[in-house]
Amino acid sequence: MAGTFGNPEVVQEEVDILIIGGGMAACGAAYEIMPWIGAAKDAGVDITVKLVDKAAMDRSGAVAQGLSAINTYIGPNQDPADYARMVSNDLMGITRDDLAYDLGRNVDDSVHLFEEWGLPIWKTVNGERFDGATWPKEGGKLLKDGGDPVRSGKWQIMINGESYKWIVAEAAKKALGSDNIQERVFIVKLVNDANDKNRVAGAVGFSTREDKVYVYKFKACLLVAGGCVNIFRPRSVGEGQGRAWYPVWNAGSTYTMAAEAGAELTMMENRFVPARFKDGYGPVGAWFLLFKAQATNAYGEVYMTKNKELLNDYPPYGQAAVPASCLRNHLMLKEMKEGRGPIYMDTVTALAKLRETLSPREVKHLEAEAWEDFLDMCIGQCGIWVGENIEPEKKNSELMPTEPYLLGSHSGCCGIWASGPEDVGAPTTEEHPEADKIPAHLPQGWNWGYRSMTTVRGLFTAGDGVGASGHKFSSGSHTEGRMCAQSMVKFVMDNKDWVPTLDTSVESLVEEIYRPVRTFLEHKDYTTAIDVNPHYITPRMLQFRLQKIMDEYVAGVATYYTTNGHMLAVAEEKLGMLKEDAMKMRAKDLHELLRAWENYHRILTAEAHMKHIQFRQESRYPGFYYRMDHNYVDEENWHCFVNSVYDKETKTWNVFKRAHKDLVDKSKLFKAAAH
Ligand SMILES: Cc1cc2nc3c(=O)[nH]c(=O)nc-3n(C[C@H](O)[C@H](O)[C@H](O)COP(=O)(O)OP(=O)(O)OC[C@H]3O[C@@H](n4cnc5c(N)ncnc54)[C@H](O)[C@@H]3O)c2cc1C
Repeated sequence: MAGTFGNPEVVQEEVDILIIGGGMAACGAAYEIMPWIGAAKDAGVDITVKLVDKAAMDRSGAVAQGLSAINTYIGPNQDPADYARMVSNDLMGITRDDLAYDLGRNVDDSVHLFEEWGLPIWKTVNGERFDGATWPKEGGKLLKDGGDPVRSGKWQIMINGESYKWIVAEAAKKALGSDNIQERVFIVKLVNDANDKNRVAGAVGFSTREDKVYVYKFKACLLVAGGCVNIFRPRSVGEGQGRAWYPVWNAGSTYTMAAEAGAELTMMENRFVPARFKDGYGPVGAWFLLFKAQATNAYGEVYMTKNKELLNDYPPYGQAAVPASCLRNHLMLKEMKEGRGPIYMDTVTALAKLRETLSPREVKHLEAEAWEDFLDMCIGQCGIWVGENIEPEKKNSELMPTEPYLLGSHSGCCGIWASGPEDVGAPTTEEHPEADKIPAHLPQGWNWGYRSMTTVRGLFTAGDGVGASGHKFSSGSHTEGRMCAQSMVKFVMDNKDWVPTLDTSVESLVEEIYRPVRTFLEHKDYTTAIDVNPHYITPRMLQFRLQKIMDEYVAGVATYYTTNGHMLAVAEEKLGMLKEDAMKMRAKDLHELLRAWENYHRILTAEAHMKHIQFRQESRYPGFYYRMDHNYVDEENWHCFVNSVYDKETKTWNVFKRAHKDLVDKSKLFKAAAH
């Protein structure tokens, strides 16, 4: 029977493996899984799989609008151990080398597949650069045949990437089969098993187009719903509302759903505050790395040179050949705070210098790329350049550190604690003075049987979901998804006779998911103005409240990214109230129902962020946030992971330390300390 807004149809399905998300990691898993399912069938085990995405896979996730570069490609002449070193240093020393190294040794295969599927990758042929359309005529080669990519940095390669996601999604859809894909379904929560509370047995969500609730049962699940944007008040408000660096649709679903299912989170205090072109949030990577542009204060002074002494306050990370991203922000913020803004990207000098060394054809190509870089991935920035009469060869553009975002695959490392590879010497025990504070049911060490499984049985993650690594980017997220495909099939084979039993009745789940709709229908006639009603709060207003709390107390742009224990205590109280008030959100249509649940996911993600910053009594990421009551990096006491678990019954967090260990020697990264 077709559902109605007040009484949705309930669709129940049982599959062996559910993939939640349709982004890079999900596409990797979808592409990889079928051969493993085939092998399982040969061994006598039939495995079914389904992928659900809240949007349409062709243009969903962070790569939706396209990209200009693949940021992780190792190539035949570089060492995955160097890649692991870079990841560690950029994230101030606290990452898992096992995860980074494993990614580094596997990622190139995904990039070769992208090229095979039709993604144009720039090449250098006879010393000259050619874009993806031109090199075949010049005698260039595919990467897998020894082609020489144009590098915009040590690990990045340039692409013509407007259709990147489309190409990757097409391969995934073809491999998985359209019958196994359900688009426009927003998953709201995972459901634990009735007989084992540390295991997942199902998930529940709703269609964003039809009045339908979906209840899935499964043996294993890949949770890859991206990172989190819009928990902090964005710089773009009012007329610019909706613009953010991170595409607005990833709302912390990964972190919240995993936390509520009991999964251990890690490094949720970490955030990414990218320095981007002001107002349009346009990318700067190509400008710094490819065009070799420099950023200056209003007086033309290069702050990275002028303030370089500040790097010595953060040994050894400040002494690396490439200082950590947060420290580069730290040097910029000094100029802003002391009144020497605006900050500019010196595009004029950079383009003039390129003319001295490159051929006219290459210069013309690069000038076009300056625009294409935005057209590929951030079209709004072109609008700003056009609207403000900016020709980059004639006029410099302003830069600005953005509001904070939470993610685990770009230049951030928050996320879920996941099982790593077993062959790289990762710890298998937990030995440190506070080890007794780690809840007893959690595994010891860094691997527990199935690569990429979280601490909840049957729950896997990849991409932005995996914490304590970072710098995986699009190619690395795809690679991690592929790794999950293999280990999920193994998990299902090992548990082939296990039957999932939901710990909550389907009726209660449906009631919960549609609560914002019922709240609206029950109370909508109480007033004559639909948005003003003492019985409910609109998702839009609730989001403003969340963003205000985070901005003003948890080191947002309002306080120049500073906070302290007292401010965090206020935030804690206000977030607690907001969590209660979230139960009063209304949904006047399916779109608002989506907004309501996105906000709920944001609140819990924000709370995790706040709790971790509160627990870590130092400022590990200067330039991203400062705890002014502990404004230093404390290697002696805090060179460790901060992890947490959430109790969905008591709605409380348990935060604790886990020991950090270097598996790759880091000394190679650093110059001698200056003091
Ligand atoms: C602004 C920006 C610029 C970037 N630039 C580059 C670059 O130049 N080069 C590069 O290599 N990488 C770049 N990256 C990194 C790359 O985009 C990510 O590493 C990658 O997309 C992460 O993959 P993922 O699968 O974890 O998440 P995503 O690709 O973001 O996918 C998340 C998926 O989950 C779905 N989803 C979300 N919530 C739900 C829910 N509740 N229920 C169901 N589905 C849900 C979404 O629709 C989406 O399909 C950039 C990222 C950002 C944010």
